[in-house]
Amino acid sequence: MTFDYDLFVIGGGSGGVRAARVAAATGAKVALAEEFRMGGTCVIRGCVPKKLMVFASGYSEMFDDARAYGWDLQEGDFNWLRFRDKLHAELSRLEGIYRKLLDGSDVAIFDARATVKDPHTVALSNGKDVTAKHILVATGGRPVLPEIPGAELGITSNEIFLLDEMPKNILIVGGGYIASEFACILKGLGVKVTQFYRGAQILRGFDDEARGLVAEGMRAKGVDLQLGTNVVDMRAATDGDHKGIWVKDSNGQEAVYDQVMFATGRAPNTGDMGLQAAGVEVGRQGEVVVDEYSQTAVPSIYAIGDVTNRVQLTPVAIREGMAFVETVFKGNPTPVDHALIPSAIFTQPEMGTVGLSEEDARAQEPVEIYSTAFKPMNHAFAGRDDRVLMKLVVSVATRKVLGCHIVADHAGEMIQLAGIAVKMGATKEDFDRTVAVHPTMAEELVTMKEPVRTA
Ligand code: NDP
Repeated sequence: MTFDYDLFVIGGGSGGVRAARVAAATGAKVALAEEFRMGGTCVIRGCVPKKLMVFASGYSEMFDDARAYGWDLQEGDFNWLRFRDKLHAELSRLEGIYRKLLDGSDVAIFDARATVKDPHTVALSNGKDVTAKHILVATGGRPVLPEIPGAELGITSNEIFLLDEMPKNILIVGGGYIASEFACILKGLGVKVTQFYRGAQILRGFDDEARGLVAEGMRAKGVDLQLGTNVVDMRAATDGDHKGIWVKDSNGQEAVYDQVMFATGRAPNTGDMGLQAAGVEVGRQGEVVVDEYSQTAVPSIYAIGDVTNRVQLTPVAIREGMAFVETVFKGNPTPVDHALIPSAIFTQPEMGTVGLSEEDARAQEPVEIYSTAFKPMNHAFAGRDDRVLMKLVVSVATRKVLGCHIVADHAGEMIQLAGIAVKMGATKEDFDRTVAVHPTMAEELVTMKEPVRTA
């Protein structure tokens, strides 16, 4: 049987674009459909614009620090519209690069929505049917609103980049990556931020000591973080010309906010995709169920990235895409390695983490904990109280570093490098025999002599 293409990729995000390009480089005939903008969540409404907003928001503290370091300067106001327009010009530039890369790789682009018609056919929203030997579903995910009366009055991370005006005050609901990052970003941009998290501490699942320090730092910078609190009711509130949102919380308190942003999790984009009808298994969260090679229950259909709800991170989707091409187009079956993925949470203070939290490691085996929290040189000089954390979780039996957790400026950069050592199986003694780089914050990772506790 002949097909129009060897591979049809549905979704032009980080995973889909990489898989399409790498497959095309093997000589395969490849097409890709994207219904919105090339680049997907990461480039258009996620990592990239978020990180640029992190940079923008960091300047408010830098003005104070600069003065402490002897600079004579005056703080001005943040001009959201000037930043927003430049931000979107940059996103358009990046989108153009993605498109050019696909073009240059001879991938046929369909600016259309694609759904699966049968194991080898994709139906496009322009009315065309296209056949392919393999179909790769890389449709990503989307933010979900909780089922709370009035929740539709709120926005999500999709809309935050598009606002015509910065709110004076905002309520952010959730305690995960997105809620915590935006609480810090908006606070840094001068917005009065309240954050509700329903549980006992934000960033559930991460190391307790590290997330505790992040929460402490966020509060010290002025985020009104309210734990054990959720929204129970929301209504539009108008005061003259001013439109706001009235919110009642689970503790019975009421307040009016300019905006409410929900960052209460994301759901895979599998709705109305024709997947189940074609025989693809879809799980309870709406995720495409795949094996370790990203293959679905239908042998010709694979899925990668957030739509599979494995690890919702851009570099993981990219790896899954490359492993798929290795397996299907290079005859080299390659399972995706999801172990020891380093990641960063771009809160202020920033957190970088790889491996097991102290709590998870203790549940697994006896461990030694090496941990130090201190005021770094640059903050001490500037008169800031922020402390940083350097922490290693070490196996008593193998001496391997099971987890490394850093809370500090640029923790994301540091954990990328520490992650190599941890991934290689470095022991505490390997860390110790590495000479310190002085004076740095990260030198503490190789100079902690005695465990602070064993468990
Ligand atoms: P998360 O799953 O990380 O967090 C969702 C948060 O919302 C949790 O705190 C959860 O609480 C809370 N929540 C869920 N349902 C409700 C509800 N009905 N009412 C109130 N609160 C609720 O999702 P995010 O949206 O923050 O991020 C999605 C994913 O995107 C992340 O898991 C991450 O993989 C990725 N990401 C990565 C980033 C990075 O690498 N820096 C940045 C941004 C996103 P509870 O803990 O109690 O379940």
